[in-house]
Amino acid sequence: MSSVLNRSTSMMNGGEMYLGGATGEGGSGEGGGGGMSLRESLVGVLGARHLRESPTSSPLQIFVRAKKKINDIYQEIEEYVAETTHFLEGVHNDKDLIEEKGLQEFKLYSSKVAGIQEVLARDHMKVAFFGRTSNGKSTVINAMLGDKILPSGIGHTTNCFLQVEGDDTNEPYFTSEGSTEKQNLKGIGQLAHALCNNRLGDSSLVRIHWPKSRCPLLRDDVVLVDSPGIDVSESLDEWIDKHCLDADVFVLVANSESTLMNTEKNFFHKVSSKLSKPNIFILQNRWDMAATEPEFLNEVRKQHLERTLAFLVEELKVVQGPQAEQRVFFVSAKEVLQQRLNESKGQPNNTSGYPDGFTSRYFEFQDFERKFEECISKTAVITKFEQHTQRGKSIAGEIQLIVGKVMERSWQEREEKMAERHNLWARLDHTEKELHALTTQMKEKICSIVDDVERRVSNALNEEIRRLSVLVDEFNEPFHPDPLVLNVYKKTLHAHVESGLGSNLRARLSSALALNIESSQAEMTNRMLALLGPERRDLANTLLPRREPFEILYRLNCENLCADFQEDIEFKFSLGLVSLVQRMLGKASNRIVNSRHKENIPRSVPMTPLTPSNEPQFGVSQDDWSIISRFALASVGSQGTMGLALALGLMFKTVGWRLIVLTGGVYGCLYAYERLTWTNKAKERVFKKQYVDHATRKLRLIVDLTSHNCSHQVQQ
Ligand code: GDP
Repeated sequence: MSSVLNRSTSMMNGGEMYLGGATGEGGSGEGGGGGMSLRESLVGVLGARHLRESPTSSPLQIFVRAKKKINDIYQEIEEYVAETTHFLEGVHNDKDLIEEKGLQEFKLYSSKVAGIQEVLARDHMKVAFFGRTSNGKSTVINAMLGDKILPSGIGHTTNCFLQVEGDDTNEPYFTSEGSTEKQNLKGIGQLAHALCNNRLGDSSLVRIHWPKSRCPLLRDDVVLVDSPGIDVSESLDEWIDKHCLDADVFVLVANSESTLMNTEKNFFHKVSSKLSKPNIFILQNRWDMAATEPEFLNEVRKQHLERTLAFLVEELKVVQGPQAEQRVFFVSAKEVLQQRLNESKGQPNNTSGYPDGFTSRYFEFQDFERKFEECISKTAVITKFEQHTQRGKSIAGEIQLIVGKVMERSWQEREEKMAERHNLWARLDHTEKELHALTTQMKEKICSIVDDVERRVSNALNEEIRRLSVLVDEFNEPFHPDPLVLNVYKKTLHAHVESGLGSNLRARLSSALALNIESSQAEMTNRMLALLGPERRDLANTLLPRREPFEILYRLNCENLCADFQEDIEFKFSLGLVSLVQRMLGKASNRIVNSRHKENIPRSVPMTPLTPSNEPQFGVSQDDWSIISRFALASVGSQGTMGLALALGLMFKTVGWRLIVLTGGVYGCLYAYERLTWTNKAKERVFKKQYVDHATRKLRLIVDLTSHNCSHQVQQ
């Protein structure tokens, strides 16, 4: 962007530099070549001409270079616009950076720049020649071009505008106004003939396309326009509007044999009223004719100069005093044309046919050409390019502004995003810490819940074990001692105990535990959700698994646990000797076994706390008791008959036979009673009691395991 602006600025500065250097060269007076021999003068003239033709030294190059430069700048602007359009289309998705309307407006720059480039390509320097008929306008143009391009002379009057412009073709051609037909232009006679035949209006334009290769002046984008004589035409206003408003320089070709006519003056008054300070050069042509009367030459020249300067400075006010003298030249176009035609034909310089002062007139014509070139270059650069330069600058400025705004908005957005990112990082950090703390707390909570559950289950199970007899008593299936029926009875009893224990445990624990667990779960969820922003909470709620009501499974598996249960439902007389001994021994033994069992249960909750009465008595160990009982049973079994005889004999002798008979009777009655009451009901009672004892022992073994299992379920 800045490079475009800088280039554009430097172009303008460069233009001024050239233009500044173009001023200050004085015109050659009548005696310009006075001190030189004719040969030296001609060498100088030809040298100067050679210099004029050199493209680098020609003042016209100011315009040529400026045109190239401004075209290059516009080329850069065009690329820049395309690049920026592409960029803006890319960022358009982000509506905050540029809106659709802004983008569409920006796209218009492309066509605007293309339009200016098109105008620039057509831009050229235009010089228009005016004067009365036969003053020599066509001859001046031909002299400047160095060729007989326009018809001139007696018998021919230019009756329309003729524009001579350079063309890249090798053959010249002309086009009439309103037509694109290229008409051949073999010779000057053909053009004259065509112009006569066409009978064009005096404001119409015929364009003569002359090969640039044949004429150096046309190579540098100069367009020369010849006009019909201002003395014969009445439509001057139309002329000016149509052909003069874009002219950079006006050349009035006057006849030095007469004074400036009012028609000529009027025309330029009209021009200067329509254009501010037009560049006007006045050629006092046919100055060779004045050489025929050398004694009056200086006087006539002075007179002409005064009048012409007065016209330019005082009447038209288009130029200041000292510069005005640089705008008036005394020349002979006819001589210059002739001389240049000779040169182009390679004929030797023969000036003998010319009146005196040819060299100075030639110099003056060249001086005019140089001043004219400088002036037209300077003017055309300003008139043709200044506006485009300003437009280019403003386009570049506007684009800079738009891109600047986009950049500013993107910076703003970047800042916002950075702040947002910073906040998110801070929130994330905070959430991580909170989550960590929450996790620790929740772990602790879970641990305490697990311990609580374990303790509760253990207590409840122990309580249920204590109440096992009630549960077993509730079992009402028909009992029969037959082994097959008994097996089925046992299985059903296992199932009854298992389900009874399970439902009792659930009744005791479930509601309390579920409440505790659910409230803990709810607390965990709520605290987790609190860590999320409100906008994420709803989403998280949908992601959370649905909580099923929590149910602990108490897997007691009574069937396996009590698989080794073996009932003993044989009839045993309670006052029988064996029973008495067994009972006596069994009680003591049971107490020891019970106490031992209790020691084996790892739970800390004692079901039947040890009391002094449970402890082994008489200082006899379990092993000792078993030996004694075995001995007693053996003695009863093997020596029973003998012992009984001895005892009976001893009693008979001591208490008498009546008492013995009575005792025997009572004993017998008791036996009979017991034998008779040993029904299935009694067997069931004994069975159930044995079962309760067995199951109690076994269940106590799994209290720890079960409670741990339950707590594990809760933990999961
Ligand atoms: P236009 O009508 O203004 O275009 O004038 P022309 O260029 O056709 O010239 C008219 C006549 O004047 C021609 O015969 C020219 O040869 C002649 N003429 C033009 N310039 C000069 C000049 O500088 N000196 C002389 N002696 N005759 C000239």
